[in-house]
Amino acid sequence: MYHTAVNQAHSDTASPAPLVVAVEFGQPLANGDCGHVGICRTEDIAYPGAGSGPCPSPKRCRHATALVSVGLRGHVEFLFLHDSMLPCTVRAFFDAEDFEIPGDYTLPEHWQSLMPRLTSLQLAAGRYPIEKSESGFLVRF
Ligand SMILES: [Zn+2]
Repeated sequence: MYHTAVNQAHSDTASPAPLVVAVEFGQPLANGDCGHVGICRTEDIAYPGAGSGPCPSPKRCRHATALVSVGLRGHVEFLFLHDSMLPCTVRAFFDAEDFEIPGDYTLPEHWQSLMPRLTSLQLAAGRYPIEKSESGFLVRF
């Protein structure tokens, strides 16, 4: 009995596995191009087609794979995997101290049911510190 209770308590607090997400960088511009800051679109790889809408750029935006999870305050965290990016993409988006979101960005709606602890689907415009690690770049939104 004792062990069962301990195991249950443990599984209640353990974080679920992160979502594996394809991210395109950029910010849609009026001319159909994507700018060189922010996030253009996101799509979790387990649910192809259920992303945040098509990229409006005729050229494809720079891209990365990210592991997405919910932080302690209920905010979303993206770990952008270093090995998933071209060196020029790393330089363009992660050489600075902050990752910039130039305008509010809405995450795909079904992420709310995949991550019940998530408090908001909005990434507010702003600058977010980049935490460098061995596997990549962590940004807590
Ligand atoms: Zn794009």
